[in-house]
Amino acid sequence: MIVLDAVSKSYDNTPILKNISFNIKPGERVSLLGPGGCGKSTILKILLGLTPPDAGKVELLGMNMADSSEDQKIVTLQKVGMAFQQGALFDFMTVEENIYFAMENMTKMSRDEMSTKIDQLLATVKLERTRTMFPHELSGGMKRRIGIARALSTNPIVCLFDEPTSGLDPVTSTIILNMIHELGGENKESASLVSTSSVEIAIRFAERVILVDKGEVVADDSWKKLLLEGSDWVKHFLSLRLIGIDLSYAKEMELPEEFIKLHWK
Ligand code: ADP
Repeated sequence: MIVLDAVSKSYDNTPILKNISFNIKPGERVSLLGPGGCGKSTILKILLGLTPPDAGKVELLGMNMADSSEDQKIVTLQKVGMAFQQGALFDFMTVEENIYFAMENMTKMSRDEMSTKIDQLLATVKLERTRTMFPHELSGGMKRRIGIARALSTNPIVCLFDEPTSGLDPVTSTIILNMIHELGGENKESASLVSTSSVEIAIRFAERVILVDKGEVVADDSWKKLLLEGSDWVKHFLSLRLIGIDLSYAKEMELPEEFIKLHWK
């Protein structure tokens, strides 16, 4: 579904991504975790063919995104749901018009099917009342939820979410994560990736984590493996950020009691 092979990118002679490689298979859910500025958005932009890499191979659904025509890219992107940080809704369209626009351009659904789907999506994100509202009438969290509903409205095979919860309160973050799980989980063959700088969000989203630091993939494994067997740097980076995260996640990962006592304060 997603292949990055030795991808590098520099801006103004400053290396931003160095030799990034990872694969994501059908049905996989992955957290792309790393501090702000480490290169997560650049990875997503390269993957979507919005920015060319300087070197390396990029495939999205089998299409070489670094080296195909705009028309070929559009055919691939019709199968992809992408939600950007700020929702990226069209200001001049109502909520339903925003979602209709995506579905009209990316699916072959009839108007009735689309309307029913919009009802379902808005109910899932608990925003039924906003159907005919404009983005300026919505809060930041509401826009984010509509952006995610729109990304998922086209039944995408690959779902990409860039910092879907940053800057949102814990309750809204939970609604958004549940929504991504619920809507994204409808198609068992679809792959989804959430980019985040929050260890908690990354843990809650997926069992597999790709950890990026200063433009490099420093680890790609399950949480349990990384926490117990990762390099000293990885263990240090993660354990510093476990403080305050609900203990139930540690139990779910079946981490040893000793580890929990030592690191999961
Ligand atoms: P993240 O999503 O992890 O916060 P980004 O991919 O947005 O990181 O940015 C990684 C680095 O690349 C940052 O230092 C950022 O300033 C730089 N960068 C991103 N886009 C550009 C650009 N178009 N021109 C110059 N520098 C950029």
